[in-house]
Order: sequence, then structure tokens, then C-alpha cells
Amino acid sequence: MVKSRTRPRELLLDIFATMPQGQHISAQELRDRIITEGGEVSLSTIYRALERLSEQGEIRSIMSARGQLWESVSGEEHHDHLICTKCGLTIEFHDDLLSGFGQSVAERKGYIYQESRFDIFGFCKDCKANLDSGTVSQVLQVLDNVTTMLDEGKRLTDSAARSIVNDKDRSVASSIERTRKILKQALDECDRALDVLEETM
Ligand SMILES: [Zn+2]
Ligand SMILES: [Zn+2]
Repeated sequence: MVKSRTRPRELLLDIFATMPQGQHISAQELRDRIITEGGEVSLSTIYRALERLSEQGEIRSIMSARGQLWESVSGEEHHDHLICTKCGLTIEFHDDLLSGFGQSVAERKGYIYQESRFDIFGFCKDCKANLDSGTVSQVLQVLDNVTTMLDEGKRLTDSAARSIVNDKDRSVASSIERTRKILKQALDECDRALDVLEETM
């Protein structure tokens, strides 16, 4: 009875013990792994076991783009995390400045410092590059539209000017109206391009 109740805990501890340092795993991935190895366990059992192991200081969780992930605490060097909120890439690093910062905050607030952890969220290099190229192609598309509109505006204005010279009054008014519309669209597109650029700055 006791044995079957402790089994998920042992299964999980085995997995964490064999995981390379720096790897973080989700509850679902843990369950998949146990099932692949012929075990049988529900996700809720895994969650309960993870919570208990975390309370006992065996493991700890970090939040990432992939949701809550877990890592082993035993025998590890203290480290903090840089987490990409887009693809989930998680980098571990150590910086004395950060633990010094944690300590000084704790002391200023009247706490006895024990430890601090920083999860820093952002876009990784690759995701930043994708983001930048996505933005650039958006701006290029907008500028392409603007060029087409301005060309069309110029053509209409030229033809309006010719009509005035030829004294064909009727078509003049409608040409000028169309020109005005197209120039307004061009200006709107310019605004959009500026918005996109501002968002990236
Ligand atoms: Zn870690
Ligand atoms: Zn990323």
C-alpha cells in the first residue's frame, strides 16, 4: 500500500536524477516519459507528486512559454534563468550581481537573506531576428503600397492638368476628387508605416 503510494515520487526522482543539468521538464513530458517506459500514471498524480517534491526542496519550478517547468535542485550550482517567452528557450546563468541584489533588498526590508532566484523573460536571439525581419517586411509592404498610390495620384493629376488645358471641364472635377482620395490613402499608409516603426523602437 505504502509502496504504491510512493511510486510516482520515486519514478520522478529517478527521472530528475538522470536529467542533464540545465534541462527543464513539464508535467506532461514527465508523464510521457513514464508511460514510454511502461509505467502508468495520471497527470494529476504527477502534479501532486511534483508539488510535494517541491515542498521538500528536491525540485523547483520555473514559468516559461511552455508553461510550468521543473528542474532538480540537488547538487546544482545556484543559477538564474533567461527565458524566451516566444519559443521557450531557457538559458541558465550565474551572476554575483543578482544574488547581491537579492541580499540587499532582503536586508533593506528587514529579512534575513537566504537565497534569491531571478527568472528574466524576453525574446531570444533567433526570435528577435524573426521579429525584426517580420517588422521590416511589413514596413516594406506598406511603403510599396504608398509608392503605387502616389504613382496613381500623379497619373490622375497629370491627366486632370491635361483636361484643364484641353478645356474638358466635366472630367476635371471627378479626376481631382479621385486624386484627393488616393493621396489621402497614401497618407494613411504612411501613418501605418510610422506606427510600425515606432512599435519597434
Ligand atoms: Zn534551471
Ligand atoms: Zn525564442
